[in-house]
Amino acid sequence: MNRRKLLKSFASLPLIGSFLNSELLYSKDNSEFNLDFAQKDIYKDLGVRTFINCAGTYTALTGSLMPKEVTDAITFGTSQYVELDELQDRVGERISELLKCEYATVSSGCFGAMSIATAGVMCGMDNNKVIQLPNTDGMKNEVILQESHYMGYCQALTNVGAKLVKIKSTKDLEKSINSKTAMLWFLNAGNDKGSIKWQEFVDLGKKHNIPTFIDCAADVPPVENLFRFTKMGFDLVAFSGGKGLRGPQSAGLLLGNKKLIKAARLHTPPRGVTIGRGMKVNKEEVLGMLTALELYLKKDHDKEWKMWEGQIQMISDSARSFDGVKSEIFVPKYANHVPSLKIHWDSKKINITPNQFRHELRSGHPSIETTGDNESVGITTWMMEPGQERTVSRRIREIFNMAKNGYNGSKNTNSDWMGYMKKEKA
Ligand SMILES: *Cc1c(COP(=O)(O)O)cnc(C)c1O
Repeated sequence: MNRRKLLKSFASLPLIGSFLNSELLYSKDNSEFNLDFAQKDIYKDLGVRTFINCAGTYTALTGSLMPKEVTDAITFGTSQYVELDELQDRVGERISELLKCEYATVSSGCFGAMSIATAGVMCGMDNNKVIQLPNTDGMKNEVILQESHYMGYCQALTNVGAKLVKIKSTKDLEKSINSKTAMLWFLNAGNDKGSIKWQEFVDLGKKHNIPTFIDCAADVPPVENLFRFTKMGFDLVAFSGGKGLRGPQSAGLLLGNKKLIKAARLHTPPRGVTIGRGMKVNKEEVLGMLTALELYLKKDHDKEWKMWEGQIQMISDSARSFDGVKSEIFVPKYANHVPSLKIHWDSKKINITPNQFRHELRSGHPSIETTGDNESVGITTWMMEPGQERTVSRRIREIFNMAKNGYNGSKNTNSDWMGYMKKEKA
């Protein structure tokens, strides 16, 4: 509030006294204290490096950038108090209308969705069980999954006390089912690796009356996936909010069976004596997630796809303009299903290794992040801002030129954010 507005509001107050002090002290407008953060480059102030993201939706690189409509919704969310449960109720209903499923809730990421869903199927609506976790004595606590679907994020299931039972075949699965079986868990990206495919898995769940869950964290695009798996009959379907949907990185979607999602929510704030208290989603993130979803559903997906293809082609052409450089454009079938590029060369002929190349991209101006190893450099464009493909193409040409003219560059390529993933896989 500026001075003139402040004086005006005094004039309209019948009793000045105590109002005056509180208005002055708690004014939301801090301009007189010179705290206008919006005008500052806070990352620069902190000395934190920013970069063009050619890698993709990695948590280590803070996921995705939220569109302005989403940050506007988040800012709007800060303006009023609401009851958290009422907000989640209404937003859950809205999301289930949008995605034509029975029910939905905004979770703390796909990982959080996995944890609360598992806690929910184990405890049902029994509050005594809810406060007992992660001790699962007296509860169904076994989650069956195909061995080939196992990955590091299964920690979300065991964190709440569940035990994993890994199987290979339909026969194994049916043999493993017993009175302790709480849930059947499926990794969408694992569909081709396991012998039991989507529909058979769903049917097995129905046959034995056990809820089925599918992790679709990185499986948007395509947009159809948001509808496909609830329709197929999975009881619980989870997506990351901060990957392809470009919502808050700490949010996610849990879709499906209303009873099971209500049970999952018993483990979430505002309730405190729960295993999920630390998986809080604040009102701003709830609104941001809903808005990101609405925006995503309205998007012209074909147009966006063509833009990505054009960007990838431009970068690929820049690399291939150098003798001996090869590249492949491909689209992963599951997870990060977007136009992607792999650049490689014989580093005996071109005097730079892919790791050194990635190091040069990272330490140049502007800094550019890619994926890969010492065999190739990996690039996607879906997390870039439109136009940045030209900068990336230019930097790639500059670095290959430098290599041609005798690169005697860095051996120090160890400070790679991808290191943590290699460790997790081991
Ligand atoms: C990213 C990812 C997760 C975790 O999702 P968050 O939204 O970051 O919590 C879980 N499973 C898979 C397969 C993922 O790719």
